[in-house]
Amino acid sequence: GGADLECEMLVLGAGPGGYSAAFRAADLGMKTVLVERYATLGGVCLNVGCIPSKALLHVTAVTDAAKGMAEHGIAFGKPKIDLDKLRGWKEKVVGKLTGGLAGMAKARKVRTVRGVGKFLDPHHLEVALTSGDGQEPTGDKQVVKFDKCIIAAGSQSVKLPFIPDDPRVVDSTGALELTTIPKRMLVIGGGIIGLEMATVYSSLGTRIDVVEMLDGLMTGADRDLVKVWEKVNTPRFDKVMLKTRTTDVKAQKNGLKVSFEGDNAPTEPQLYDMILQSVGRTPNGNKIGAENAGVAVDERGFIATDKQMRTNVGHIFAIGDIIGQPMLAHKAVHEAHVAAEAAAGQKSFFDARQIPSVAYTDPEVAWAGKTEAECKAEGIKYGKAVFPWAASGRAIANGRDEGFTKVLFDEETHRIIGGAIVGTQAGDLISELCLAIEMGCDPVDIGKTIHPHPTLGESVGMAAELFEGVCTDLP
Ligand code: FAD
Repeated sequence: GGADLECEMLVLGAGPGGYSAAFRAADLGMKTVLVERYATLGGVCLNVGCIPSKALLHVTAVTDAAKGMAEHGIAFGKPKIDLDKLRGWKEKVVGKLTGGLAGMAKARKVRTVRGVGKFLDPHHLEVALTSGDGQEPTGDKQVVKFDKCIIAAGSQSVKLPFIPDDPRVVDSTGALELTTIPKRMLVIGGGIIGLEMATVYSSLGTRIDVVEMLDGLMTGADRDLVKVWEKVNTPRFDKVMLKTRTTDVKAQKNGLKVSFEGDNAPTEPQLYDMILQSVGRTPNGNKIGAENAGVAVDERGFIATDKQMRTNVGHIFAIGDIIGQPMLAHKAVHEAHVAAEAAAGQKSFFDARQIPSVAYTDPEVAWAGKTEAECKAEGIKYGKAVFPWAASGRAIANGRDEGFTKVLFDEETHRIIGGAIVGTQAGDLISELCLAIEMGCDPVDIGKTIHPHPTLGESVGMAAELFEGVCTDLP
């Protein structure tokens, strides 16, 4: 059929998956078109996810740390919050990064088409062009003909059906807009995203309740880590209601009236100024006309792929949140490179031994490879060493010695198979354990590596050293 534009590689969606795929494809010599409905590149992660949340968490962490300094002999006055400036800081951070991406796309001659894409058939995508800050349709359409395609259309927040449409009810995107600092907020869902936003708002002075249906927060992490986080964060929250559900929300003039049910439900309905829904994310698989291209989408909206990120249609690949858990930017980026390389005929496979998870809360919680819960479920015989930060000179000097570093190894092979850290900077510190797992290190490799003293990173070496004597007779 007729097309306005032709390319070797079409990438649908410009999040971390999509832009990484487009850049790699262009670097490998393919004529590449990148279709994105929003005004800027970067997707959820850069615009309304990873990056703006960290810009705010940075500011609130510094504020919290300053409050704690009175104990060490330096007292500051009460913080004055200029919400416009704070929002401006976050926008500047995002703008720097999305602007950088636009420059990188241009340098690689990746053609971007702004609009909502829908497959017409296995080789054509129709784009309903959009303009403005959001995705306002211009009324014009463009058809792109492609040889190969990578679907990277991402995911969006799940909405609970019984919650009314009200400006005081937000998802993570709305919470990051930071239009007001509510007095009292309910966070529905005790996963990483909910708890990061709760950290930001509580530091700004909001009183917060968290409600979670399951019997724990951050359910992917081992409980010993979460216990440390909970101990530090008890004063931050009014109530953390586990094994409890919200059953009804009424929008009233004086607030949102919420009813609860479950083990820790308050007897009376509670009144909030703001509700954050953070109960998970759902893939955009059902919104791209995948059926016209013959691409199979499951009932939840996920697209299945093989280890080269190929869908059931040989020349169409899929990556990132739209193919499944864990929905994380670094996973999307690595899948993107595999997909672009495989499309270019290379023998690339996605074969990660570990994908790290980090909650950028205070303290941070980070884990990689197998958790203890997974080892137990899979019947893996594992050894573990835990180095408490109460024995770390640097953590004590920082006044933050509540954390620990944990290393897990396989008792048969002696290889490190998992690691976890709770404490300040845990997200930065976990990388050494990611590398150890990926390279098949044994604990002695790390224990005998000289780490700089006094650092938090030393705790990884110290934990590994605890295995010495256990792992002397290596296979
Ligand atoms: P997305 O980033 O979702 O990008 C998909 C893009 O496709 C979007 O720009 C969308 O507009 C576009 N699109 C969709 N359909 C169409 C269409 N039909 N036509 C045109 N364009 C379309 N992950 C981390 O690793 N670390 C973090 O710290 C972290 N923090 C987060 C905080 C929050 C508040 C949220 C919500 C998420 C966070 N994540 C984090 C998750 C991370 O943002 C996602 O895993 C990541 O963005 C997924 O990348 P992606 O490329 O698959 O899709």
